[in-house]
Amino acid sequence: MEEKISELKAAAVAEVKAASDMTALNDIRVKYLGKKGEFTAILRGMSSLSAEERPKVGKIVNVAKAEVEEAINAQAGELKAKELSARLASEKIDVTLPGRNVPQGHLHPLTLTMQRIKDIFVHMGFSVEEGPEIERDYFNFEALNLPKDHPARDMQDSFYITDEILMRSQTSPVQARTMQANEPNKPIRMIAPGRVYRRDEYDATHSPMFTQVEGLVIDKGISFADLKGTLELFLHQIFNENVGVRFRPSFFPFTEPSAEVDISCVMCHGEGCKVCKGTGWLEILGAGMVHPHVLEMSGYDPKVVSGFAFGLGVERIAMLSYGIDDLRLFYDNDVRFLQQF
Ligand SMILES: [Zn+2]
Repeated sequence: MEEKISELKAAAVAEVKAASDMTALNDIRVKYLGKKGEFTAILRGMSSLSAEERPKVGKIVNVAKAEVEEAINAQAGELKAKELSARLASEKIDVTLPGRNVPQGHLHPLTLTMQRIKDIFVHMGFSVEEGPEIERDYFNFEALNLPKDHPARDMQDSFYITDEILMRSQTSPVQARTMQANEPNKPIRMIAPGRVYRRDEYDATHSPMFTQVEGLVIDKGISFADLKGTLELFLHQIFNENVGVRFRPSFFPFTEPSAEVDISCVMCHGEGCKVCKGTGWLEILGAGMVHPHVLEMSGYDPKVVSGFAFGLGVERIAMLSYGIDDLRLFYDNDVRFLQQF
């Protein structure tokens, strides 16, 4: 009997040592130590033994069982350690591999130009004001001295939403809004940057949507000399110190007198070329002294204060600054173009 138990134990331990994974090990545990296992069978068969022998054999079986149990636990520990080192090896990170490239974006050339324009005026003490792109006819035209039947409205064919509401055709309504929000005759020094909309062609020099910056200065004793000084300083900073600036008489309904402002051609420096159509000059912005009627309509008294206003196209300045010959490049979102800035 003792011999039989010893053989069984040896067979069990041998099988345990050969087990290659946890499933096999578990099967061996059930086979030898389970309720229907081989050692249990021996204990059950002890009824045929004499009363003397029973405790003796029982003790031997229990010792054998404990040894098999111990062998199983030892093997389990070894298998787990092997599994862990295999996982560590397979999940190893190679820190020398090249990283994944995350492309970095940058600012659009129009945004860059707008920032430069804002910087120059903010340094001169101007505030930056904003207004809605969907505007009332009153602010877009009437408050700027353009009543319903005014012929100059034809110069700005607009997108109407209703008879009274339209996509703003200029950023000037922000000027009227700022004046009307102020106490009467309170000094103003502001620029209004933003998108404007006009029914227009879409070609190398026209777009139904473009970007404007308008400016307004109102205070006691503001004269045309202030207008010239401010705009000359701006143009010298945005282009260069040597750029020529000239003022030509012009007409706008909301200013009197009015002027077109030209700079000497940045391509040919005044010699005459294709860009300036041989004239040596480039039209760059419109300006003038605020019409007394416009001041009155927004609650300012033209006998007490005066002011000047100007408006410029951001696309035009960006095209001349960077040497871009087609306006559509700004809106086409062609990465090959945008990456150059
Ligand atoms: Zn030129």
